[in-house]
Amino acid sequence: MKGHPQQSIEFLKNEGRVNWHDETLWWVRQRRDNAAHGLTEWERLREKASEIKDYTLSHLDELLLNFEEKAIQNGIRVHWAGDAKEHNQIVHRILKEKKIDFVVKSKSMLTEECGLNHFLEEQGIEVIDTDLGERIVQWMQQKPSHIVLPAIHLKKGDIGAVFTEKLGLPQTNDAQVLTEAARQDMRKYFVASKVALTGVNFGLAKEGAFVVCTNEGNADMGVHIADVHIASMGIEKLIPKQEHLGVFLRLLARSATGQPITTYSSHFRSPSPGKEIHLILVDNGRSAILGKPDFRSSLKCIRCGACMNTCPVFRKTGGHSYESVIPGPIGAILSPHKDPVRYKSLPFASSLCGSCTAVCPVKIDIDKQLYLWRQELSKKDNMGRAAHFLAGEILASPSWFNFGSRSFYFFHKKFPALVNRLLKPFTGKRPLPEAAPQTFREWYKKNA
Ligand code: SF4
Repeated sequence: MKGHPQQSIEFLKNEGRVNWHDETLWWVRQRRDNAAHGLTEWERLREKASEIKDYTLSHLDELLLNFEEKAIQNGIRVHWAGDAKEHNQIVHRILKEKKIDFVVKSKSMLTEECGLNHFLEEQGIEVIDTDLGERIVQWMQQKPSHIVLPAIHLKKGDIGAVFTEKLGLPQTNDAQVLTEAARQDMRKYFVASKVALTGVNFGLAKEGAFVVCTNEGNADMGVHIADVHIASMGIEKLIPKQEHLGVFLRLLARSATGQPITTYSSHFRSPSPGKEIHLILVDNGRSAILGKPDFRSSLKCIRCGACMNTCPVFRKTGGHSYESVIPGPIGAILSPHKDPVRYKSLPFASSLCGSCTAVCPVKIDIDKQLYLWRQELSKKDNMGRAAHFLAGEILASPSWFNFGSRSFYFFHKKFPALVNRLLKPFTGKRPLPEAAPQTFREWYKKNA
């Protein structure tokens, strides 16, 4: 683990890539704005979604039990997983019972979080990611860099080269040709697969049903051909009833890509005759976040990615620099719950401009939580605490302040290269401007 600052430096070395990554995501953000401005009730929808999620989180225990009961009545086999390991073992057990050696999987950030692909591959089971972006990063042995646009860090030329290597396709940047080649290649896996894995976008507590949203139809293709559907769902994905779904579906696609609705919003209530649906309800640290009043609203997230597209830090440094499954502003407040040491740099990867909070369709106070995390993490940082103490003492005393600022001015004017070298860990690539010919106090004394 290098940490966000170091990874960002790597990303920033390729200025061309930084610029198009920034511009592409800003274009997606603008599409989101256009779509949002097209609905006069947009702010009311956000408010409503936030309230529904508030209600859900404060009644999660009873809603989950109700959901389980109804789902079982509908013929769905429900499993509970306390953590990632348990989730993976449940999936493996089902696959082993069915003597399965490969599965098709649509995009699911939860299975990424659980490290499912890696786990199954260690058990000798091949996983074919069927979302096009996920398939590309899987071929390249990379992680998704964005939760909605997993291959957004790659240019068409990079993708064309992978298709040449993996499918023998002549090098091309034509997106239509590449997509068609992926579709033809994928088809043989769909047809042969006995088990399909999906994530879950929304669980409907009253109905005991769930909804999976995709733009490519790959989840539906996998699930309808296979005999067994295994769906992995974070316990926070619940909403009280189907009646509430419209609020979220209207917000989700508009916030994610600027589309009025996701191309496929597929509802699963009960298995077709002769088929099975297994639903795995996963906690993996969510209950612990629920128990923290300042941070619990982060569980409202519907994984639209809008906070990433708008974040100036994310756009300029790329998703991989976060080194966490969920990158960007929401990742920066979720990941330290899992490991505050490993992810200690993430809450500082923000200008605290609040743009993430302004676009979030479920009104999560992301910037406030980033700031709270900084305070939490600073308590554990002895160097930081000492620096803050020293700064507090100097700023509180006019004589120390005058002495400090005069000394700094003197050294900066006389030895600018040395001062810049000493400050480089803080100033990075941006050296201090040349010292002014006189201090403000000197100027004030002469001119006031
Ligand atoms: S925090 Fe909000 S904006 Fe960011 S991914 Fe989640 S729902 Fe979308």
